[in-house]
Amino acid sequence: MKTPICTFDAKTGILCAKCESKLRLGHLTQADIEGAMKITKLAEHNQDINKFTMISAAKVDDDFILILRGSDIIILRANTSLLKKLEDEFQGKIWFVEAEATDRRFLENLFFPAKVLTVNLIWLPDGIKLTKVIVTGRNHSEWHTKIERIKKIAKEIRNIELLVELHQQK
Ligand SMILES: [Zn+2]
Repeated sequence: MKTPICTFDAKTGILCAKCESKLRLGHLTQADIEGAMKITKLAEHNQDINKFTMISAAKVDDDFILILRGSDIIILRANTSLLKKLEDEFQGKIWFVEAEATDRRFLENLFFPAKVLTVNLIWLPDGIKLTKVIVTGRNHSEWHTKIERIKKIAKEIRNIELLVELHQQK
């Protein structure tokens, strides 16, 4: 298991001088540390998770965003019991984003399993840039709640102002 902090620190919950200074300098965030500790705890009892590489983490309200390798995310999405373990440990919804994802890929990761059909930039007259995405989905309230969370995450993590349009599935 690789995380942005030392394995020993992640296991003991105490940061070494090097990681402590990274935190002070802003190269690490509290979410990185919290995420690294939680995922390391799971990795001790799980061989699949033990092979993961966590690049970083972010927290928006109670939602955790984990940035992992693309190959780790493929494994997770194919294994619901693994997903369940992570959600239990993190006590809530986790969003998985691939390391070095482009903005489009980042949005596809957030909207998964819905399909992102198009992504377009729209410039408003006052210089505000909007990112318009068209995604597949049904027009029900559960979706709208999810979209609101995605908008907030996109704004906080990548400063993307999202405009979401649903393309109704038959
Ligand atoms: Zn350390």
